[in-house]
Amino acid sequence: PDEGLLVPALVSADLGFKREILGRGAPDLTACYQCGTCSVVCPISTADNPFPRKEMIWVQWGLKERALGNSSIWLCHQCATCTAYCPRDAKPASLMAALRDYSIQHFAVPAFMGRAVSDPRFLPLLFAVPALIFLALLAALGHLGRLPEGPVVFSKFLPIIHIEIVFMAAMTLSGLGALAGGVRYWKAMTVHMGGDGRAPTQALVPTVLGILRHRKFGECRSRPAGTRQTFKEHLHPTHLAVFWGFLGLVATTTSVGIGIYAFGYLTPWPLWHPVKILGNASGAAVVGALLVFGYRRVADAERAGKSSYSDWLFLVVLGSTTLTGFLCQILRLADARGAAYPMYVVHLVFVFVLLVYIPYSKFSHLVYRTTAMLYAASAPPAKGAS
Ligand code: SF4
Repeated sequence: PDEGLLVPALVSADLGFKREILGRGAPDLTACYQCGTCSVVCPISTADNPFPRKEMIWVQWGLKERALGNSSIWLCHQCATCTAYCPRDAKPASLMAALRDYSIQHFAVPAFMGRAVSDPRFLPLLFAVPALIFLALLAALGHLGRLPEGPVVFSKFLPIIHIEIVFMAAMTLSGLGALAGGVRYWKAMTVHMGGDGRAPTQALVPTVLGILRHRKFGECRSRPAGTRQTFKEHLHPTHLAVFWGFLGLVATTTSVGIGIYAFGYLTPWPLWHPVKILGNASGAAVVGALLVFGYRRVADAERAGKSSYSDWLFLVVLGSTTLTGFLCQILRLADARGAAYPMYVVHLVFVFVLLVYIPYSKFSHLVYRTTAMLYAASAPPAKGAS
């Protein structure tokens, strides 16, 4: 069975899977004639796990489990060098993106959340859940339609402890979903790539440090195959900006929590406070990077591959979360009570959609790419690699 590709009787094709992948922006796979150029020019593909050539044929043949139970799809950082050099214009980078998109839904726990976040028809429902939670909370506090008097202080409208209870409960469920999804992916790799299934504790620290430095991502730029334009040259620096900007925002929120609970230093804090400066600088980095991402996705759609619904959903939700955060601050400073408090609720709804749905949105690359990198760092691929 390990040599399934060589024994036709053991190949179980899932042509519905192939249709699904094609429907997610993958190109016409029949253009690929398996020359292997894409794997050779890829700066991070290796001889014992040569992607994306093998994914091109696996999806053509409908080998769903093998294509999904593989670290390659998440080791790829979408630099699109393969697409730039493919002699058949088969756009292998778009296939890898479609596989990642599909795998998020495939490994999602619970499965209905994977379907809901990947289907635009459920978008109103995804926003309605947090909106109803916060409106119910406001109603219970007697603040629905009755704004606090005096200068704008958001905690007078929705006390921080209430917000924290909502987010802690929701994030606990979300964290369990992320863990279950990661474990399912890990087990699938163990089945289809080999390995003993043990978690590589010794690989954890180097892998996380590599992610913080974007070490592998950087190789896509530092080891170019040639001089052809990939239309993804912006990806590495822009992702670094959004990554560290987001971490800066997380550090800001955490510091505010510590300030309030450990030192009784109540919000709002002055603009010159180092934590506020960190928050504003981080938010500006995120918004700037997202503008670059959005522009390049539109401008280079034909040459670098079209963006999917999940690409846009993630960009818009992350951008809206940051922008509504800025708007809250501006409206508070302008003492525009009538607009500031509703904007605060809108901001909280976006924060909820961004963070609580992490395991099911494109944000889940946080979970799946880390899992794939850990697997690759600990278990050399043995089965079905070529
Ligand atoms: Fe060759 Fe293009 Fe197929 Fe890769 S995707 S094997 S470069 S034809």
